[in-house]
Amino acid sequence: MEWEKSKRLYEEACKWIPGGVNSPVRSARAVGMNPIFVKEARGCRLVDEDGNTYIDYVGSWGPLIVGHSHPDIVEAVRRAAEKGTSYGIPTQLEISMAQKVVEMVPSIDMVRMVSSGTEATMSAIRLARGYTGRKKIIKFNGCYHGHGDCLLVQSGSGLATLGIPGSPGIPEEIVMHTLSLPYNDLGQVEEVMERMGKEVAAIIVEPVAANMGVVLPRPGFLQGLRKLCDAFGTVLIFDEVISGFRLAAGGAQEVFGVLPDLTCLGKIIGGGLPVGAYGGKREIMMKMAPVGDIYQAGTLSGNPLAMSAGLATLNILSSAGIYEVLEEKANYLVHGLAEGAKAAGVSVRMNRIGSLGCGFFTAEEVCDFESALKADTQAYAVFFQEMLKGGIYMAPSQFEAFFVSLAHEKSDLDRTVEVAAQAFERVR
Ligand code: PLP
Repeated sequence: MEWEKSKRLYEEACKWIPGGVNSPVRSARAVGMNPIFVKEARGCRLVDEDGNTYIDYVGSWGPLIVGHSHPDIVEAVRRAAEKGTSYGIPTQLEISMAQKVVEMVPSIDMVRMVSSGTEATMSAIRLARGYTGRKKIIKFNGCYHGHGDCLLVQSGSGLATLGIPGSPGIPEEIVMHTLSLPYNDLGQVEEVMERMGKEVAAIIVEPVAANMGVVLPRPGFLQGLRKLCDAFGTVLIFDEVISGFRLAAGGAQEVFGVLPDLTCLGKIIGGGLPVGAYGGKREIMMKMAPVGDIYQAGTLSGNPLAMSAGLATLNILSSAGIYEVLEEKANYLVHGLAEGAKAAGVSVRMNRIGSLGCGFFTAEEVCDFESALKADTQAYAVFFQEMLKGGIYMAPSQFEAFFVSLAHEKSDLDRTVEVAAQAFERVR
């Protein structure tokens, strides 16, 4: 496979864009490569500038659950664009979106649209602090909630890939109110809450962690957080930017039967256009300006193109049996990958829920950030490179998820398993 043009474009990009990328996770440095430059994509396939084709398991890091360039989405965006790209004045589309979200997500009575997942979590934290009159927040090691100052502590995603715990430029005075605890360790949360629960405005958690690879919540973990929040008057925030509409129509909260006070959404809800949202209990949401005095705003919030793409996606996901189809595809894939690793004698822990998964190159169970970091990143780099050469695009980091979409056909999954079997041989 030739990557001549991608290489030239990367060199050019590096002259004008730091590291040549507009988001660090797009860099393939962690897997010892340059990024490929994409020309176009359709269904589950990406085509790069050199004309190479790949079966894609990144799907723009989650939004493209129905595949690239889905005709319903393209048509919805085209129709919306013909009527204007942004007004800064309310539209009926925003009501339709709010109704759809309330209908699909069990704990949401009211919702606010924003333009990214980062804005959603920043706003939810501000709301929780304003609502409770408290400053402290609890998050979990390896969870990523976007790049807002108070949440960039012991983060997953690009920070885990780069091996950095936080970021210079964030004042100590801000992060001193953030406590980051081990994921899945309810005992530690209980201990901290016993000591200072009345000062804690919010506990924010990815109900399925998907930014340190994929780590599932242990039975009782989410239920325990709910109980603690109830006991201390703390706002429970589920960051469902990845898990929302991915695991089920109602996200992880539907799957695990635990309802948070506030939910953050993003990715799928924009159908591939820039979007985010936060919503929850009416009593809390009504504290937001202009009814309440907690402030948050956005020039492009509720943008008609993003609303149209998002609604078209949510409509597809509302069809009966869709999540069963995704489950079946992902289960088939993971089973095939696990077989390939076993045949090659490579230790890989496959963590999966619904169409969200990850293979950790380690023999040990991965249940938190600490165990995720023990995975063999060199082995993953070899695996990534071999997969890429074989026409399969996985995330360029051990600490990211793979995403199966409705567009992955059985033949695509079979081809992936075939290439992976050879890739595992190379890892050995
Ligand atoms: N929350 C989670 C769980 C995420 O995975 C991400 C991004 O990957 C974010 C928040 C931030 O979203 P955005 O990149 O749209 O700002």
